[in-house]
Formats: sequence, structure tokens, C-alpha cells
Amino acid sequence: MNMSTIAQSRNNPAADQTAKRSATADVMSCKAWVAKGAKQPLALESIDLGPLEPDDVEVAVEHCGLCHSDLSVFNNEWGISQYPAVLGHEVVGRVTAVGSAAKGLEVGQRVGVGWSSASCMHCRQCLSGNQHLCPQVQFTIVGHRGGFATHIRVHWAWAIPLPEKLNVADAGPLLCAGVTVFNPLSMYASPTDRVGIIGIGGLGHMAVKFAAAYGCDVTAFTSSERKFDEAKGFGANHVVSSKDSAAIKKLGGSFDLLINTANVKLDWDALIGTLAPNGRLHVVGAVLEPIPVAAFSLIMQQRSVSGSPSGSPVAIATMLDFAARHNIAPQTEHFPLSQINEAFARLESGKARYRIVLDADF
Ligand code: NAP
Ligand code: ZN
Repeated sequence: MNMSTIAQSRNNPAADQTAKRSATADVMSCKAWVAKGAKQPLALESIDLGPLEPDDVEVAVEHCGLCHSDLSVFNNEWGISQYPAVLGHEVVGRVTAVGSAAKGLEVGQRVGVGWSSASCMHCRQCLSGNQHLCPQVQFTIVGHRGGFATHIRVHWAWAIPLPEKLNVADAGPLLCAGVTVFNPLSMYASPTDRVGIIGIGGLGHMAVKFAAAYGCDVTAFTSSERKFDEAKGFGANHVVSSKDSAAIKKLGGSFDLLINTANVKLDWDALIGTLAPNGRLHVVGAVLEPIPVAAFSLIMQQRSVSGSPSGSPVAIATMLDFAARHNIAPQTEHFPLSQINEAFARLESGKARYRIVLDADF
């Protein structure tokens, strides 16, 4: 919350109305599944939340998807984790309290929360609609309590109203997996494009569904032969093994856009070689090793390599509308939240098909 926002709400009758609508029923404590340190079993604890910040809303969590980023933060693979940690950033729930300066939301409204839970709202990026690129963007699960809890609190702009038509129990994964792959498609793909999706997991299977609905010719790259048929069921026109360099090389010069969702080292040279002139390899999977790129493989064909984090609130809302309009939903496995440790183990084993969702059972 910053002073100018406070002043605005004081001088603005509409904001006053919001303030009047604000429930004082914000819970002061919640229950949450807490990681005390890297790889330690999650334990149920009560947490004192303190008073609700003026710009925040409070949401009672109904369902929360389990993203590979939760696992990476849980295991401190990126070196940014802060413990104790409450993970979970694919949240669906109902607003239970609205801060005195919060805008546009009402108690009882169903919303979703993804990877980001606040941004400064006054920097160049925020003011140009790229709040996900704000230097002060707050990650929902790093230094902030996430959604594996009875309640979550977020800045009002990052609680995105859910379209009525979406199935509430399965909508959570749209909030991170969905927007993360929808964003590069909406930025870079045309319906006539040939698009390759690398890694058919939580993000990848959503990318295949979105790219197919866009009208693209879609190729799924998977390391799991058992996923070949299912990838076609999601809308892929072709399926190729991501481990078969010879098969990948045969596709040289084909793709307008490749979206990599895998988080491991692959045959990058062969994959970049599959790009058509002006083609783009877009990276959303958190590959820890550097991705080597030969200058001439970019220069001669005018290719590019790029990346992106999640998406802005408007990108999330646009993606939710697109998903509702085209009946696009993740393929999910449901666990009660009390089995959260089993759910993390299943994700880590690579057996999840294709996104685990935890259902609140406090
Ligand atoms: P996931 O469900 O575990 O899927 C990852 C997929 O990568 C797997 O299903 C697998 O697909 C492929 N893969 C795994 N190990 C492999 C190996 N040894 N060789 C080849 N392929 C392998 O994970 P997710 O939730 O989709 O997340 C994917 C990545 O995106 C993670 O790194 C996550 O942290 C990151 N992420 C980034 C953003 C962002 O904003 N940029 C947002 C969310 C997540 P196949 O079985 O088909 O090969
Ligand atoms: Zn995520």
C-alpha cells in the first residue's frame, strides 16, 4: 500500500463505497501447510495473519493446483526460497474480506490467484499493463503466504474474477500453468503458425490445448512415449520424442514458434534448428543450465530466443475468458489438501497426469 493510493481512496467517493462494503470479517488467523525448510515434510499450523492491509483482499481457498515451481521453491532449487514457506499459487476461492482501499471486488466473489500477489502499481511496467514485470512484483510463494491454506491475502489487482462458465474445481491450474503458456501464444503466434510445445506436463498440456484452439498446427515434443496418444487427444497434430535428436533434426526449418516447458537440458542445437526463418524459441520452463545458442543459427535465419514469467492481470483475465469460450480445462488429479506431502511426491515422481489439484479439507 502506498500513500498516494491511500489519498486517492480518501478523496474518491467510489472508493468510499468500496470501503463501506469492506467486511470487517477478515480472519486474523488461518491454518496453512507449512514447509519449515527445504525438503522437510509440510506440517499443518495456525498462523496469525494480523489486520488486513488496505489494498488487500482475503480469499478462502477452495482448490489450489500444484505447479512444478512449488516443488522447486520447496526444494530451494532456485536459491530464492524463504522458510517457513506456505506454497501454492494456482488458487481458486471466494473473497471473504475486502481492504478499505481495494477496488473492484466484493465479498463472496469467486476469484483466482496465480504466481504474483502484488506489484507496486506506480512504476513504468505497472502503468503500462505489464504488472508481472514490475521490479517489486511479489511472488505468491516467496516471502508471502501461498494457497495451501484456509485463506490467502493478495493485492486486489491480482485476485482475478473467474468466469462463471469455468469448472471451479479444475480452474486453479489456469492461474499459473495456463497464463504462462497462453501469454507467449497471444504475443507471438498466429492461427496459421506451426507451433511446437516441448515437455507435456502441467504447462505443456495446457499449451497444446491453447495452441490447438488458436488454430495452429501443433507438434508436441515429449520424452514419455506413453504420452504420445494423450498429446494428440489434447489437440496435437504431430508428436515427436524430445530425446530423439535424429527425429528432431528431420524437422529442420519448420516451426514459427517453439515453447519450451521442460526444466531439463535438451538438444538445444537440434531444437533451434527446427525453427523456420523468423522463428522463435520461447522458454518458460526453468532450465537451470545455460541454453547455448550459436550466433549464426540465429543470424542467418533471423531467429530469436526469448522467455517470460507468468502474465499480467489482464493477460490472466483474457486467458480465463478464452478458456471459458473454448471449453479448455486442464486434465487434473485431485488430492485432499491433507495429503499434500503425497501430492508433492507424486509430482516429483513425474507420474502426475497432467496437473495435481489439492482440494481444501480443513
Ligand atoms: P511438470 O508438470 O513437472 O512438467 C514438466 C515436463 O518436463 C514433464 O512433464 C516432462 O514432459 C518434461 N521433462 C521432465 N523431465 C524431463 C527429462 N529428463 N527429459 C525431457 N523432458 C523432461 O512441470 P510444470 O508445472 O509444467 O512446470 C514446467 C517448468 O516450468 C518448471 O520448471 C516450472 O518451474 C516452470 N514454470 C515457469 C513459469 C514461468 O512463469 N515461466 C510458470 C510456471 C512454471 P514429457 O514427459 O512430455 O517429456
Ligand atoms: Zn506455477
